Amino acid sequence: MKKLVILGGGESGVGAALLAKQKGYDVVLMDESSLKEGYRNELKAAGVELIEGSIDEDKLLSADEVVKSPGIPEKNVWVKKLRAKGVPIISEIELAYRYKGDSKIIAITGSNGKSTTTSLIYHICKTAELECALVGNIGYSFARQVAQDPKPLYVAEISSFQLDDIVTFRPDIALLLNITEDHLDRYDYKFENYIRSKFRITINQSASDYFIYNLDDEVITKYLEQNQIHSIQLPMSMKEKVEKGGYIQADQLHVKVESEEQSMSVYDFALKGKHNQYNTMAASVAGATMDIRKSKIREAVETFENLEHRSEAVATVRGVEFINDSKATNVNSTWYALESMTKPTILILGGVDKGNDYSAIKELVHEKVKAIVCMGVDNSKIHEAFDGEVKLIDTGSAENAVAAAYDLASPGDVVLLSPACASFDLFKNYEDRGKQFKDAVKNL
Ligand code: ADP
Repeated sequence: MKKLVILGGGESGVGAALLAKQKGYDVVLMDESSLKEGYRNELKAAGVELIEGSIDEDKLLSADEVVKSPGIPEKNVWVKKLRAKGVPIISEIELAYRYKGDSKIIAITGSNGKSTTTSLIYHICKTAELECALVGNIGYSFARQVAQDPKPLYVAEISSFQLDDIVTFRPDIALLLNITEDHLDRYDYKFENYIRSKFRITINQSASDYFIYNLDDEVITKYLEQNQIHSIQLPMSMKEKVEKGGYIQADQLHVKVESEEQSMSVYDFALKGKHNQYNTMAASVAGATMDIRKSKIREAVETFENLEHRSEAVATVRGVEFINDSKATNVNSTWYALESMTKPTILILGGVDKGNDYSAIKELVHEKVKAIVCMGVDNSKIHEAFDGEVKLIDTGSAENAVAAAYDLASPGDVVLLSPACASFDLFKNYEDRGKQFKDAVKNL
């Protein structure tokens, strides 16, 4: 029996364990911390050996193969030992891929917009009554879905960390939405490593697969000039017309793959803002590659309900509007949130900085932002970037940040939480940050 060790007991590790056990591997799951109780019970019921709170070095290093959870970096001591010994390490999506059978995969990656676009593609597929599942970072892990409820089509949100350890994973339709600096701490602070990692989504694709990408993204086009992709390329753009793929001109989206062209007004999109026009375009092109009827794509694009914590309207309190964009964890997503603001803005910014360069939003801050409320343990980089440009106030909780922002705002202004940072200095995660923000607004 092949000995498989799974490192990390979150959703992807547990999904991988359940699938591997079902397929007859000798499975051990190890995690240095403790697992959520639900996961622990599931593993027990499935008869998976679990080592919690420590790592069994002998067992780990004698594995035939290791599935590493995406959250564990290369610099982790156990990963280093495995690499030194030459034990193959794969990601959970690679394991799931081995057992997906004839099913198709639409895989979505990019620095920003993954969850939104993945959910919209899933909504398009459901509207067209395709039998499919939403997997990856949102919903269940791909491996769990394959083990417990296999489907003919998987719509998968894929992060660069999951792509780092694929071997044969080959999506029928791959989407690359954009590439901006993010997670550089995991890539030796080399942007080119992160770019290469994102493009791994195409490495196993063949001439009958599709690759949908953003033609307006110079990082992407530069890479494409220097590297070969084997699949059918479907670019999308807001700057130029494309023959096949999608483009937006004069507020009209045009989509064409094999069949006839489809046009839609961007004003009919359920998702608002320029970034969401890109996301909607990407999802529509993906729909067109599957020969989904034009009327179904249109219906889905018009009826989609946005996800929580993404430019979510919370409430208007005495003329001051509050928007929760807690999911904006890097500077680029904050750029798009600010770009779509039409009123004077009080911006709540800050948290754990992943190597942010705030100069990218300086112009928009100058143009639209009345004041910045810093919400983090260490706000020094925000001060360095904006002291003297705009009024800055330091706070250390969602409640204080909302109170300070409300104080600074006049009727007709908007308070935007779009922090450009990770949340774990003050919060459990971005959902917790968004929820505490919303609770504070409701208590005003
Ligand atoms: P991801 O799953 O890649 O983190 P989400 O769809 O959850 O992306 O969106 C996260 C945030 O990124 C949103 O709140 C929004 O501010 C921003 N965003 C969404 N789509 C895009 C895009 N296409 N380009 C840039 N920023 C975007």
